[in-house]
Amino acid sequence: MDFRNVHIHSHVSVDAKEVAREIAKVFPDRTVNVRSPFEYDGRIEHARILDARQPFEKQPKRGDSMMPLYDGFWLQRILAESIPAAECSHVHIVFTDLLTCTFNEDDWRYHGRAVVCGTPSIISMTGIVEAPAKPKEFYLAGFGGMAAGSLKKKFVGRFIDYGDDMTAAATAYALQALFFFVADGDPFCSNKNCRLYNAHWQEELLRMSKKGEFCQRHSQMANKFNKNGSRH
Ligand SMILES: [Zn+2]
Repeated sequence: MDFRNVHIHSHVSVDAKEVAREIAKVFPDRTVNVRSPFEYDGRIEHARILDARQPFEKQPKRGDSMMPLYDGFWLQRILAESIPAAECSHVHIVFTDLLTCTFNEDDWRYHGRAVVCGTPSIISMTGIVEAPAKPKEFYLAGFGGMAAGSLKKKFVGRFIDYGDDMTAAATAYALQALFFFVADGDPFCSNKNCRLYNAHWQEELLRMSKKGEFCQRHSQMANKFNKNGSRH
């Protein structure tokens, strides 16, 4: 992986220039540029998931899911075909509306993912809204019959909704996508205050992305990486 060039494919919910600036602060020697949204064609339909309770090889040929779901790794392979050969080794971060999912063999079903690391790295705006859970009380109040509008008002600032500015959350995931290459495929941190924390709750995601700090281990890792230049 030639980490010298990072391309960010923008999305309307994100200030991609701000994401680029944040990346440049962490990796100052790299060239980070912002591009128009990543273009894809009908081939992505080959990554469609119609039954969230079946692995990819066993997907039915036909069906209708309420919200279009895509197998994140198959989608990644399909999008990779559109990357020009000269840029194959660059880092590409694609912000998209497509809802990426990965199959979990523990509970034998697909789960929504906000980020799928690799080439390209896919960050799903829909996944940011749907994958990390909203506050527990949000669901409880919903079950209690509170209308969606009042629910959202009551919990404002504690969850992420469609139409919100997702720049801070997108930055956290973009950094995770980059640390995937820096940290040998394991970018997630168990320290709740670190920007690489694997947030299961939107409140955690909002808190850590607002704070914008690394734990000691990851800040040292970034320093070492910057000092040594590209290690690959
Ligand atoms: Zn960390």
